[in-house]
Formats: sequence, structure tokens, C-alpha cells
Amino acid sequence: MSFIVFLFGIILGSFFNVCIYRIPKGENIAFPPSHCAKCEKELKWYDLFPIISYIFLRGKCRYCKDKISIRYPVVELLTGLVYVILFYKFGLTIDFFKYVVLFSFLIIAGFIDFDTMEVYFSLSLVGLAGGVIFSIVSIIKGALVKDIVVSMAIPLIIFGMLIFFTRKIKGIGTGDLEILIIISLYVSCKMIIATIMFSIVMGGIVSIILILNGKRKIHIPFVPFIALGTFGAVMYGDEIINWYLNLFM
Ligand SMILES: [Zn+2]
Repeated sequence: MSFIVFLFGIILGSFFNVCIYRIPKGENIAFPPSHCAKCEKELKWYDLFPIISYIFLRGKCRYCKDKISIRYPVVELLTGLVYVILFYKFGLTIDFFKYVVLFSFLIIAGFIDFDTMEVYFSLSLVGLAGGVIFSIVSIIKGALVKDIVVSMAIPLIIFGMLIFFTRKIKGIGTGDLEILIIISLYVSCKMIIATIMFSIVMGGIVSIILILNGKRKIHIPFVPFIALGTFGAVMYGDEIINWYLNLFM
């Protein structure tokens, strides 16, 4: 079963590559079919197998022999692995599908932010729609509307303040806040706090390392850290928060 989940992940990952490449250009993600970025020759169906075709073609276009970015198989593999890990943690439950949607959104948004330093509203709308659907599902299952509102308010307050106080540094922006509010529709109050803490700590450590290496001017995309932070929170958030609360109570 986990192999089917993995296969499902790498096939979707291959589609996410198309999204990551085309959304910033404002291109249609369904049409035209996949083509080589250099010679524009349309790819045959047998060149579209995730990971395997990359290995088979030795990372080069079949026609013009131009190098294919290692990013393509990396995104495919990453998506497959994330899906399998979620499957081991949650089994075939609604939570599994919820986090599959959330992390698919975060993988695409994270790589786009890495490439362009932008968050695209068209993509956010998809994440938002998924969040609304899963919120409705959780309300039907007995979750309180109040809790969902509190979850959404947390990033607005914590992150809103952070943006306000760091506005001169120009590190994190409203796009990052947008992503966090969408995440809050998928996770609990405790988890969104853990997500924010994890992402700020990781983003902070990487920023300090870059600054110490004299790379002061470099802009650091924050969405990848938010994505990592969310993954940490979903996998270990409850344990860490309970451990932390126990220290003080
Ligand atoms: Zn080519």
C-alpha cells in the first residue's frame, strides 16, 4: 500500500513541477503539454515517468541534449516521500488526505517562493478552497467554529506583529502571512503556534549563518521554512507542545 501512495506522490510531484514552472509565468498549467524548456519539443509519454525517465535520459533532453534540472526528480521524490510519511502517521484517514492537500500546496508554494520570492494569489486560492472544505468537514465531525477562528487569528497577531517590527529589514512579508492563515485552516491552534515557532527558528538560524558568511543582502524566501515548520508541527507538534507546557505547569 505504501508503494501505491509513493507512486501517487511522484506522479503528482511531476505535475507540481509543471505548476512551479508555469504559475509564476502566468501560463496555463494544463495546456500545452510538457515540453523541453530549451528546444520546446513536446515530450513523449515515455519521457514523463517521474524520476525513472530522468535517470534513463541521464538528466538530458532527448532532442537537444540540454541539461534537465535535478529539481524535477527532487520535487517528485520529495512529494512521494512526504505522502508516504503522512500515510505511516495517519493511515488512510481524512487527516491523511487533508495533509496531502496541505503539503502539496506548500511544496508548490515553497519552491515558487524559492525561485521568485513571490506568493501567487491564484495558488493561494486553491489552498484556501481546500482549507475551507476540510474546515467544514471538521465542523461536521464536531470541531468548534470558535477554535477555527482562534487558529486563524494566531498567525494574524503573531506574524502581523513580526512583519510590523521587521518591515525595515524586508525579510518576511504579507505573502508569508497569507500562507500561514491558509495553514491555520488545516491545523489546530496549538499546531499553528508550533508551525510559526519552528519556521521562525529555522529561518532565523539560516539567516544568521548567511549573515555571518557576509551575505547580508541576500533575500531569504520564507515559505520553504513555513513548509518545513508545518511538517515539524504536524509530525511532532503535539509532543513538543505538551512537553513544553509540562515544564511550566
Ligand atoms: Zn530539449
